[in-house]
Amino acid sequence: MEKKPILTKEQIQEITKTYPTPFHIYDEAAIRANARALNAAFSWNKGYREFFAVKANPNPFILKILQEEGCGSDCSSMAELVLSNAVGSTGEMIMFSSNDTPLEEFAYCHQLGGIINLDDVTQVDKMAKACGGFPETVSCRFNPGGHFTMSNGIMDHPGDAKYGMTKEQLFRAYRILRDGGVKRFGIHAFLASNALMEEYYPRLAAILFKLVVEIKQELGITLSFVNLSGGIGIPYYPDEEPNDIAAIGAGVHKAYDDILVPEGITDLAIYTELGRFMLGPYGQLVTRAVNEKHIYKEYIGVDACAVDLIRPAMYGAYHHITVAGKENAACDHVYDVTGSLCENNDKFAIDRKMPKIDMGDYLVIHDAGAHGYAMGYNYNGRLKSAELLLKEDGSVQMIRRAETLADYFATFDCFPVFDELTEDGGMK
Ligand SMILES: *Cc1c(COP(=O)(O)O)cnc(C)c1O
Repeated sequence: MEKKPILTKEQIQEITKTYPTPFHIYDEAAIRANARALNAAFSWNKGYREFFAVKANPNPFILKILQEEGCGSDCSSMAELVLSNAVGSTGEMIMFSSNDTPLEEFAYCHQLGGIINLDDVTQVDKMAKACGGFPETVSCRFNPGGHFTMSNGIMDHPGDAKYGMTKEQLFRAYRILRDGGVKRFGIHAFLASNALMEEYYPRLAAILFKLVVEIKQELGITLSFVNLSGGIGIPYYPDEEPNDIAAIGAGVHKAYDDILVPEGITDLAIYTELGRFMLGPYGQLVTRAVNEKHIYKEYIGVDACAVDLIRPAMYGAYHHITVAGKENAACDHVYDVTGSLCENNDKFAIDRKMPKIDMGDYLVIHDAGAHGYAMGYNYNGRLKSAELLLKEDGSVQMIRRAETLADYFATFDCFPVFDELTEDGGMK
């Protein structure tokens, strides 16, 4: 799929008069269009809801946009619950799919009326204690173990994943919950990440639908929802094609008709917890070429670094890069594009064929909208960049300011001197 920058070079030049690089930019119109396509793909299912995986982009302005498109939030920490509450997504607009969960987070989720998705059978009693009794609705996370295979081979290794319960534990959990008075039940599983094949969701759905039938037969519990979690992938490489979400929705519909309908189950709601699919392609990191060096290889140093987008450093992930204003120029140079961290893996691209890059050029790093800013850190004392939103009317709004040195030193208020820091981090 062609990789198009959200902003033209002229727009970037204009924006940098107010907001210097590096910054993340998100495309509101594209986020909304994608959320609508997802909702349309599952509109055959009356109870369908997407719970946006907040961890992928924990910005309240983004959460608000998705909420306006009908999405709830999938949370897994106190901060994510607080964010969800802050934008007014409470009650059953919250799915709490956490693991290794502190008790106070169960309690807070319950206080907000959110749905708790239990990761382990040992959490059943802890949750009940934390919530002062069994909530009315509870979901359980399943881990089938072994390998998860697709038509083109092994997709992932659930047997090595820390999440979810074995089948025996899952049934045990439902029994305890049923006997404890829980009224509505759900089931959840997350078996593959960044799946770029339309087969993934329908296959996962079939596994869970069969369990729904078994649970009904064995425990007399008719589940209310199946949560297919996240995992729908995006094309990071320009030669990859995006998933056809309508085909995915139709595939899940077929599994529903094949497995559930003959068993008389017709009002089961489908839930999803997509992160990458909702935001990934609609956010980009804009940075400027500020240094070049020519040693054993050709390096372009930019003003962003792994602090702004860690996926290349952490996973060797590919993120496409275009040079603003040189979108159609020949890629007749080979560069490593680097950040400033004292870590040799701080490279946005290695041996990448690109147009000739001149100092001051703006580089647009694609597909940074999910697990981009969110995974940032502060290594080397580098500060995290601002986040901007290109609104539907064409204007640009800052939705998170860049960090200052004062932010970085804020937790040293116990050390004399740092308690006297000025706004920009200088000493008084
Ligand atoms: C990370 C995560 C998601 C979102 O995953 P994506 O790959 O971004 O779609 C959803 N649910 C849970 C429980 C997760 O941990």
